[in-house]
Amino acid sequence: MRFDVISLFPSLINSFFEYGVIGKALRSKKIVIQTWNPRDFLDSNNSRVDDRPYGGGPGMVLLAKPLIDTIEEAKKNSQDPYVILMSPQGKVFESKKAKEWALKEHLVIVCGRYEGVDQRVIKTIVDEECSIGDFVVSGGEIPALLVVDSVSRLLEGILGDPESSKLDSFSKGLLKHPQYTRPEEGPYGNVPKVLLSGDHALIRLWQLKQSLLKTRKVRPDLLEKRQMNKEEKELLDEIISEEKD
Ligand code: SAH
Repeated sequence: MRFDVISLFPSLINSFFEYGVIGKALRSKKIVIQTWNPRDFLDSNNSRVDDRPYGGGPGMVLLAKPLIDTIEEAKKNSQDPYVILMSPQGKVFESKKAKEWALKEHLVIVCGRYEGVDQRVIKTIVDEECSIGDFVVSGGEIPALLVVDSVSRLLEGILGDPESSKLDSFSKGLLKHPQYTRPEEGPYGNVPKVLLSGDHALIRLWQLKQSLLKTRKVRPDLLEKRQMNKEEKELLDEIISEEKD
């Protein structure tokens, strides 16, 4: 899969992806990430990438022309590019969206800065605006890194164990169960006995119950959205009756 990221600070993007599983995927060419700086697309009529907003107000707005020229160039890298603008005014990114975008061949991700981008960029060339949550950060780079990372994890051959992303939080609409590693016993407490039992059916049930417990406590909204199967309903009833005791 190919990602083109458009940013006034491309080294923020490039340095992040030197590390970890995404760095490895880049080196083995399972994914391609190219960065583009709109400053490289200025012409003789434009010596800057931003200007003051019409109608007044604080800060600067990114000019349409250098951004659109950059996006157009990045789009040429495939037959089927999909252009995303990172913006607090987009729909909030979630695991469902990551899965949808992981099926695409090519994402062009645009990072805003300052007060944002000229609206004509959105009208002319953006397919979708994407927010990472109901808060504002100073630039689209961290949001873009989140999107590239979470979409990449879903691609085949990126994670060491292909099952891994299927067991992550949100993949089945629940938060992940707690995890333990060595030692079995220690100053900070002991590993729950069931995890040492070797009884896979029992372990799976315990993990599912813990997932439900955690989700109910921290993200009840996820449970409300979810179609539960019989086993999950029974476990949830058990949790509720235990809460009453
Ligand atoms: N004035 C704008 C915010 C600009 S923040 C507003 O009120 O909507 C500068 C840039 O950071 C944005 O253009 C966007 O690219 C990025 N950004 C900030 N918060 C974001 C969020 N929650 N999700 C995605 N991108 C965000």
